[in-house]
Parts: sequence; C-alpha cells; structure tokens
Amino acid sequence: MYETRDHELFRKTVRAFVERSIEPYVEEWEQAGIFPAHELFRKLGAAGLLGLEYAPEFGGQGADHSYSVLFGEELGRISSGGVSMAISVQTDMATPSLHRFGSEELKRRYLTPAITGEHVAAIAVTEPDAGSDVAGLRTRAAQDGDEWVINGTKLYITNGTQADWLCLLARTSDEGGYRGMSQIVVPTDVEGFSVSRKLDKLGNRSSDTAELSFDDVRVPVANTIGVVGRGFQQQMAQFQNERMIASYIAVGQMTMALERTAAYLRERHAFGTPLLDNQYVRFRLAELHAELDLLRHYNYACADAYMRGEDTTRFATIAKLKAGRMQRAVADACIQFHGGIGYMEETWTARYFRDTRLLSIGGGADEVMLRALARIDGLG
Ligand SMILES: Cc1cc2nc3c(=O)[nH]c(=O)nc-3n(C[C@H](O)[C@H](O)[C@H](O)COP(=O)(O)OP(=O)(O)OC[C@H]3O[C@@H](n4cnc5c(N)ncnc54)[C@H](O)[C@@H]3O)c2cc1C
Repeated sequence: MYETRDHELFRKTVRAFVERSIEPYVEEWEQAGIFPAHELFRKLGAAGLLGLEYAPEFGGQGADHSYSVLFGEELGRISSGGVSMAISVQTDMATPSLHRFGSEELKRRYLTPAITGEHVAAIAVTEPDAGSDVAGLRTRAAQDGDEWVINGTKLYITNGTQADWLCLLARTSDEGGYRGMSQIVVPTDVEGFSVSRKLDKLGNRSSDTAELSFDDVRVPVANTIGVVGRGFQQQMAQFQNERMIASYIAVGQMTMALERTAAYLRERHAFGTPLLDNQYVRFRLAELHAELDLLRHYNYACADAYMRGEDTTRFATIAKLKAGRMQRAVADACIQFHGGIGYMEETWTARYFRDTRLLSIGGGADEVMLRALARIDGLG
C-alpha cells in the first residue's frame, strides 16, 4: 500500500522539494547554527506538506498516515538531521494534540497558520530537572479568572528561538505526579516570555535549540488544548506521533547512508581490490541492510495499526528504540568503512555520525523506551 501511483508521485514531490529548496542551503544553515524556519516552512506550507493528515477545513490535506511515513522517509534524505527534526517538530510533535483535542477556535488561530507555514511551532515539555521523568515537571500555570499565569523554565526546545507559539505542558493543579497537568498553547509574543539562551550542540546544528523562561506569562484559559488536567495523557499520545515520525526519518537517513557507503566502497581500493570486495565489509553492510528492512516493514506495520485506529504505543516504542540503536550501528559502520576521510568534516559521514546520536536520547531515551516496553509486556 506504500507503492501505489499516488504514493510514488508523492515521494517524488517531496524528494524534488528537498533537492530544490533544502539541500542547496544546508551547508550555510549548518555553519550559521540555525535555518530560516519561517522562510522554509512557508514554502513547505505552500507545497501542502505541513498538514498531511490534518482536516482540510484547517488547511490540511486530509491524507492518511501512509503519506506521513513516506514524508518521514524522504525527510531522512536531507543531509542535515537538524532540518528534518525541525520540520517534524512542526508536523508531528507540536501539532497532533491541537488537531486531536483543540477547540475549533484554537485550531483556527494556531493550527491553520502552522499548516500554512506562517507560524513556527515548538513542543515544550522538558525542563532542567525533568526530562525522562515527565511526571517531575514543575512549570506551573495558576488560574487567575479566565487566564493562566505561567512560571517556569523549559529546556532543549527545538525551534525554540524562532517559534511563534508553544505547545506547553504545565502543572495546573497541586495533585502532583501524572495528575493535574494541562497542554496550553502559549504565543511567544506575550509579556514575561523570553528565550534565556540558544544552546550549542554536538549535532543537528542547523536546528535552533533553546532554554525558555516564563515569568508571570498570562494566556487565556481558552488556550488549553483538550481537557484541563489531562495534559500528561494527551502528551503521551502526542509522543507516539513523535516516536513514529522519528523512526520513519531514521529509515530514510540509514537508507541513504548505506547507499552512499556502498558507492564509496566500490570505488575505493586497497590490497588490489575495491574495499567492497572484502567479505567482512560486504557481510556487515548486508546485515545492516537486513536490519533496516526489518525496521522499515515494522514501521509500515505500526502505521497500518495506527490507520486502523489501534493503540500504537508498543509499536512506536519498539520502533523508536530499534531506530535509535540502529542509527548508532549504521553511523559507526559508515564512518569506519570510510577510514580517515570519513572522520573529516568535508565528508557527509562526520555530520551524520553527530546528528544521528540524538535519536537514542531525545524524545525518550532508549532506557525510557525499554522501561515502557517492560511495563507493557508485563515484566514488572
Ligand atoms: C537536540 C535536542 C532537542 C530536543 N528537543 C526537545 C523539544 O523540542 N521539546 C522537548 O520538550 N524536549 C526536547 N528535548 C529533550 C529530550 O527529549 C530529553 O533530553 C530526553 O527526554 C532525556 O531527558 P534528559 O535530557 O533530562 O535526561 P535524563 O532524564 O537526565 O536522563 C539521562 C539518561 O539517564 C538514562 N535513564 C533515564 N531514565 C532511566 C531509567 N528509568 N532507567 C535507566 N536509565 C535511565 C538515559 O540513558 C538518559 O539518557 C531535546 C533534546 C535534545 C538533546
């Protein structure tokens, strides 16, 4: 079902967009440590690529999830993980809850401009003292009449310096733990909001990552997404979208990395033969191809379950875990088989090695995936 004529055309459209509107600028953005999110997102919006599954009444394409799978795989072909990550924050991390649970008015004001690319969105969950353990977050939204008054700090927020609004997860009662949190749309042009610092990173350097500060920030209670007090549960559902798209992107990235590495090893000679003629090298690549195939088809099974309306928590958790672990193995093999040139910044392998290391940490570390999986599978 991922190879119908419509899917093929869609894949070609995304690939052409990436080649024309992203790849020529990647080097410049990597050097600058930021990419022009508004400029790029408007182009993506005009091409209809920022709201694939969202309702047409809000500007979306009303497509099924299979198109998001292909979109992710094609984003993976961008030679900077920072750009694919930033785009997927807009499409699959900061907006699914708003589409799923938001009021009509909230969707008109914030979802539609995120789909057209007029607005840049960010997801603000992590805090200095609460990353893996989301239940430990402290940012507080206290109700004052028909407004929330927000105080706290968010850390490592992708698109953080450029965002027009945030999908914020904050405490809205004293219940503690998983209870009493809400998701709130916070526009970034309000008094009391500031970007405390833009963070310097190992990889994904073209994406801006920020620490954000909230000092008596006032937003209407009507900006709450869905049900007050159900924010944690809504965010857990949104995390499934995040984990799925991350795994789709990883498949695209690894496919390209293995293609490029095989091409290099065909040309590079040592001991009188192309390096690819060595059985060890060939077998290693064949094995990675086999594992990649398993992940690709696991992703498709996950997407099919999602389209049937099933709970994909277990699928998404396994996909994210295996994608993160595989990225590390593929990046290691690619750099190893390139030798010295692979270690040089002039070769794609260096950036790939740095960028892909994030997947085992961000969006829930490998150990957090294992913790969730152990629970789901009744291992205590
Ligand atoms: C580049 C980048 C972009 C990001 N973008 C966003 C964003 O847009 N929005 C957002 O909200 N967050 C974002 N994050 C945050 C990211 O999701 C967190 O960094 C991640 O969830 C881990 O949280 P932590 O950094 O606090 O690690 P900690 O919670 O301090 O954990 C540290 C390590 O401990 C281990 N560990 C944790 N729990 C367990 C356990 N139960 N058992 C065994 N080992 C364990 C893991 O190896 C983990 O990596 C981003 C992070 C980075 C680096």
